[in-house]
Amino acid sequence: MGSEVNKSDSRAGILVVDDQPSNADLLNIALAAEGFKVFKAYSGESALKLLQDIAAVVDLVLLDVNMPGMDGYQMCSRMKADDKLKEIPVMFVSAIDDVTVKMNGFQVGGVDYITKPFHRIELVARIRTHVDLRRKQREIEALHRNEVEHYRRMNTVKDNMLQVVSHDLKNPLSAIISGLGILKLTLWNAIQSDDKALSGFQLIGSSADKMRGMIHDLLDLVLVEGTLTLNRELTWLIPYLEKRLNDFNHMAAEKQITLKFTPPPYDFQVAIAPDRFAQVLENLLSNAIKYTDPQGMVELVAVLERDGVHISVRDTGPGIAEDDLPHLFEKFYRVRSVAHRDQTGTGLGLVIAKLITELHQGRIEVQSQIGKGSTFTVVLPA
Ligand code: ADP
Repeated sequence: MGSEVNKSDSRAGILVVDDQPSNADLLNIALAAEGFKVFKAYSGESALKLLQDIAAVVDLVLLDVNMPGMDGYQMCSRMKADDKLKEIPVMFVSAIDDVTVKMNGFQVGGVDYITKPFHRIELVARIRTHVDLRRKQREIEALHRNEVEHYRRMNTVKDNMLQVVSHDLKNPLSAIISGLGILKLTLWNAIQSDDKALSGFQLIGSSADKMRGMIHDLLDLVLVEGTLTLNRELTWLIPYLEKRLNDFNHMAAEKQITLKFTPPPYDFQVAIAPDRFAQVLENLLSNAIKYTDPQGMVELVAVLERDGVHISVRDTGPGIAEDDLPHLFEKFYRVRSVAHRDQTGTGLGLVIAKLITELHQGRIEVQSQIGKGSTFTVVLPA
């Protein structure tokens, strides 16, 4: 059987599997003389067992095709089905010089096939090629693993930072907003009677509101990006949607925007995380009202199609240019057009909506025409 594992040994490891000990010994001597570290096994079964312990230091398996019990092809198939062993290259060794037999070797996952009797120089050259390839592949895998790990760490640092900064900003901002409330109660007459004081007061108010929105969206983004699973509940769709729309009555009334609900012909249940999914609809509805001119209309429509439930928010707003459409779901992207000049958002609402929709295995689409309006549609799989 093979010698023991030493991970600090930099020699390439070869496992020789041959039911004839004399063959295995010959290969052992020849390969050891070329600087390889050789392990031996005399059957497919014992080789697989040995590999479970030494897989990390084996760079190639030199495998006899004809062996009693488990033959070389069977052993190779078993290796390729084992996550721990499947990447180790297998080179078949056989006295049979037949194309069909060789083809079988490649079909079960072998990388090479050499016929006995072989020339030592040829055997060693071929082994070196496969060992080098395997080592390069391992290096690339290790680099990739390091990169993924680095990215994961950086992402955690970013998330923690965002969370801490946003949380820390929240309290002083609340203090500013409540301070403004106090000023309004106590000094409103004086502020109102002075144009400069009034515009300064309004500027502080609108900036504080904007900042509150940004902090809210950033915290939401961190939360949603870190969410792996949702607590879904079967939810009746029509009352659920009605409630979401009614929450915007006040905002719409302020702009004299008509809200319309077009439900499906009959109610049914959808598996959603109700509070999370509400954020999707809230983002779409608030955008629709925000970007639509007074006296316009915003409609919430739900229909059951073959591929799932389509929930759309339609507006009679300014529409979005074709060039902007592909970027709408990118972080911090905001349309820069005359119609959008007064917007105060963060450019994160649609990103959050998309992430939450995707957590529900759904998708989000947009159709828009300049001057006519936009329709954002969320499709939840049936
Ligand atoms: P924001 O917080 O800026 O609204 P969103 O991610 O929700 O961020 O939207 C991104 C941009 O897409 C907005 O800044 C706006 O320019 C545009 N947009 C979103 N919804 C609409 C809509 N219904 N009509 C016109 N433009 C829209």
